[in-house]
Amino acid sequence: MDSARSWFNRLQPKEKVKPGPAKKEAGCAKDLQKPPIEDAPSNVTKQKVTAAKQYIENHYKDQMKSLEDRKERRWMLEKKLADAKVSKEEQNNILKSLEKKETEYMRLQRHKMGVDDFELLTIIGRGAFGEVRICKGKKTGNVYAMKKLKKSEMLRRGQVEHVKAERNLLAEVDSPYIVKLYFSFQDDEYLYLIMEYLPGGDMMTLLMRKDTLTDNEARFYIAETVLAIESIHKHNYIHRDIKPDNLLLDRHGHMKLSDFGLCKPLDSSCFPNLSEPEYAPGRNSKSTLDDERPSASPTPRRSQKEQLQHWQKNRRMLAYSTVGTPDYIAPEVLLKKGYGMECDWWSLGAIMYEMLVGYPPFYSEDPMSTCRKIVNWRNHLKFPEEAKLSPEAKDLIGRLLCNVEHRLGTKGAQQIKAHPWFRGMQWERLYHTEAAFKPEVNDELDTQNFEKFEETSTPIQTSSKSGPWRKMLPSKDVNFVGYTYKNFEIVNDHEVSGIG
Ligand code: ADP
Ligand code: MG
Repeated sequence: MDSARSWFNRLQPKEKVKPGPAKKEAGCAKDLQKPPIEDAPSNVTKQKVTAAKQYIENHYKDQMKSLEDRKERRWMLEKKLADAKVSKEEQNNILKSLEKKETEYMRLQRHKMGVDDFELLTIIGRGAFGEVRICKGKKTGNVYAMKKLKKSEMLRRGQVEHVKAERNLLAEVDSPYIVKLYFSFQDDEYLYLIMEYLPGGDMMTLLMRKDTLTDNEARFYIAETVLAIESIHKHNYIHRDIKPDNLLLDRHGHMKLSDFGLCKPLDSSCFPNLSEPEYAPGRNSKSTLDDERPSASPTPRRSQKEQLQHWQKNRRMLAYSTVGTPDYIAPEVLLKKGYGMECDWWSLGAIMYEMLVGYPPFYSEDPMSTCRKIVNWRNHLKFPEEAKLSPEAKDLIGRLLCNVEHRLGTKGAQQIKAHPWFRGMQWERLYHTEAAFKPEVNDELDTQNFEKFEETSTPIQTSSKSGPWRKMLPSKDVNFVGYTYKNFEIVNDHEVSGIG
């Protein structure tokens, strides 16, 4: 971007233009009564002045804001340290380390980085807005994951704020359970996030390989997810789309949460049945309550094994569709009731269920049936006998997959950590213990734990009919309107009705 000075420089010569002699000679009496034409700035000049003024104002506003943010970060840390009864010396060291990070951050911001600074390598993920690939810094040789997002898509869907939220959160939260963001920059077409590369693959892939996890294995990942969610909630963010695809594994098998603030469109055309009100459960005799659809019910018509096979067959397709999978979304989000941080704890419950049973609790033939089951969770939450869950595991899942008033975590992560299923868990040491599985990673560019993606220039699938579908929000935005399809919304526990 141009500096304020260069804006001035560009403007100066034009503003200083004085009437030349040739013009003076040509002037007649009538002309002399008017102010000389050259003294009145042209429209272009006026526009430039306005733009420059705006630019300068924004520039200083931004600067003041980052200065204030920086002060506030320091103040918060000082307050935390005072409360934490840390020795004076340790306090000084921690504060010094913050200052160092802040300075480094400012330095990185000044350096105008671009996509040309990186060697682009294998694609490891593709989503609604763009792709993720590994890349190497040309100067440093450091390996990163580059997430590339098409700006026009985000603008069109009004998602810019959420992408900013993603960038800010990733830069702000310093937790071993949150994917690190190193740089972000943009060009005319794309926004780029340069993150640490996690070569262990994502939890979705791990779950597909393992079918189910043992109680101990699940406990490890669920505990790390608790710590990840706790760390973003501490920064007043709600993720709102916590699911196995967004839980990534580092080379040692420890888990990190990623994918903040980006959105996937929810497209009504992906749910053809929704546009037919007679399909609304409980509305007429042709009711399509999932339990009445022979192929959609997990129990009793399908055994756990059959349901697992069905889920696995559809899983990737759901993950890579522009719609995404609603399997882990809390009912209050679907019902647009306004929601808070508790919705992330619901998702945790759904993931825990999937780890132990093999498929998520409300899995259905099509995403809309899943939504219906979620809002009618009281009738649909069942534990298959064959899965042989421990009573503590069932209890914890039941206390996460329930209404907000009864949900564990509503009064803080401590409530979950204290549940008997976690008895003996060493929360503080967890990151330094051995992971449940150690992924096979041969070198820093190894992508064997990811799907193979073709290099293609196919445009990203889009739809102008998409409803809002936001992933992470500042927690104060509690009244975000959740699922809205073109003509339908889920209005209460029992029906899907037309609104348009
Ligand atoms: P989307 O918005 O498309 O879901 P994600 O940020 O979740 O975007 O990235 C899509 C996929 O790319 C993830 O599920 C994961 O497999 C892979 N991925 C994303 N970020 C990283 C990373 N930092 N390291 C390794 N893989 C990643
Ligand atoms: Mg994702």
